[in-house]
Amino acid sequence: MKTYMNFVNGQPVGSERTFESLNPATGEVLGLAPISTAEQVKAAIAAARAAQSAWAARPDAERKALMMQVAETIKKNAPYLAEWVTREQGKPLGGLGPDQVPGARFEVWGCEVWTQVPASLDLPVEVVFEDDTRRDEVHRKPFGVVAAIAPWNWPLLIAIWQMIPSIRAGNTVVIKPSEYTTLGTLELVRLIGEVLPKGVINTVSGPGEVGSWLVSDPGIDKIMFTGSGPTGAKIAEAAARNMVPTTMELGGNDAAIMLPDADPKAMAMGLFWGAFINMGQTCACAKRLYVHENLFEPTVQALKELAEVMPMGDGMNEGMVMGPIQNKMQYDKVVSLVESAKKAGANIVCGGAPKGGPGYFYPLTLVTGLKDGDRLVDEEQFGPVLPIIKYSNVEDAIASANRLDAGLGASVWSSDIEKAKQVAGRIQAGTVWINQHGMIHPMVPFGGAKGSGYGVEFGLEGLKSVTRPQVISVKK
Ligand code: NAD
Repeated sequence: MKTYMNFVNGQPVGSERTFESLNPATGEVLGLAPISTAEQVKAAIAAARAAQSAWAARPDAERKALMMQVAETIKKNAPYLAEWVTREQGKPLGGLGPDQVPGARFEVWGCEVWTQVPASLDLPVEVVFEDDTRRDEVHRKPFGVVAAIAPWNWPLLIAIWQMIPSIRAGNTVVIKPSEYTTLGTLELVRLIGEVLPKGVINTVSGPGEVGSWLVSDPGIDKIMFTGSGPTGAKIAEAAARNMVPTTMELGGNDAAIMLPDADPKAMAMGLFWGAFINMGQTCACAKRLYVHENLFEPTVQALKELAEVMPMGDGMNEGMVMGPIQNKMQYDKVVSLVESAKKAGANIVCGGAPKGGPGYFYPLTLVTGLKDGDRLVDEEQFGPVLPIIKYSNVEDAIASANRLDAGLGASVWSSDIEKAKQVAGRIQAGTVWINQHGMIHPMVPFGGAKGSGYGVEFGLEGLKSVTRPQVISVKK
């Protein structure tokens, strides 16, 4: 059984204690990961600190060129990294074309693109005021050492979202991967870390406790967190004690609203992937679908036809479209929410019972007959289950979309874009998509409202968020 290492100051670092990483499709142990000690967390932060000023002092063009080399390294190692994603996270390898499954190859391709884009963006000096007496410029400075804490659903892509803009802007990084998907991330960081000066990116691995040592250390200048709301709240408390700015990308419970003039057949595929990409284990999946009563039956039918034909199994087998749920905790949560829906009198349109056998497989499940307030509607399922709720008045659907504390994404589906935009503008969410859902883009800022967090990633706004403004004010 291979033991994988952390990557600190350009070197592999092991620990006395280790934990197993499992394949969620088979239960197979993939390897052992180190459990970093408190001293090792401190050493990783010290390595990042030692490297930071030289990294920030490099000419911008050099940093950009190195980031492009990072993108090349990801591309060169894409098959290896995609296999890690499939074996450890569970999403099928899938393909890249428009008709193909957004699986592990797509995730690794995303890592490449989300590296190239920040590498090609500039942080220009903004002249915010100028007259005969003075000139005021806003410059962008790196914070210093960034702590990144990643989740297990898109383990490599989210790690890239956290690390790449940070280092592009002159910060150095210590990242803690999720304990469910550690090995692939350690391999990613090792590969790209070898292209960068030592100490620019570093890892510490282990359970939440290791993350808590990292985020509460006074040597951290900025925190990037992606994960659940309760963990986010703990990290925000730790950050407040050290007055450290944070970007909080938390859970969502995105509503999708089908307006009365939507076309169920034409929109079914977009809705389907909006809800079921990565088995629904995506922060900005459609997690509650509100459908006007006139369209209800055809919409349910169109989604059912898709849900019933998607091949599900071990994602290492080409042709699989759906994989397992990533871990037992999440699997149990999905089972419990569906059981609670059954108790509440719901109608299970398809799926609704575990498949059995090895691996955390659960069928794609559509549920009708629920209402706001039922657990499966109100709680983030983060799995392959979609409640479809009938409404008769658009005002009620908007109120339903807004009644929860989550506000990551939402979508409005209609044949009339202007009408859809009016509805979209009234929904309390960081992004409202029209006739698509969850379609993030590396140039477009992404972040949550309300309990889904604060701060944004991606594009120029995302790059700014890993810097602090410095005003240079010149008397004329
Ligand atoms: P989680 O909060 O359980 O864990 C996330 C990370 O935090 C893990 O690495 C974990 O070890 C670490 N952690 C746990 N306790 C900690 C502590 N006290 N201090 C520091 N770190 C600690 O979340 P998860 O189950 O891995 O991820 C699923 C959740 O993430 C879902 O709610 C999902 O919606 C959300 N998510 C949000 C986004 C977004 O961009 N908004 C993206 C992906 C996932």
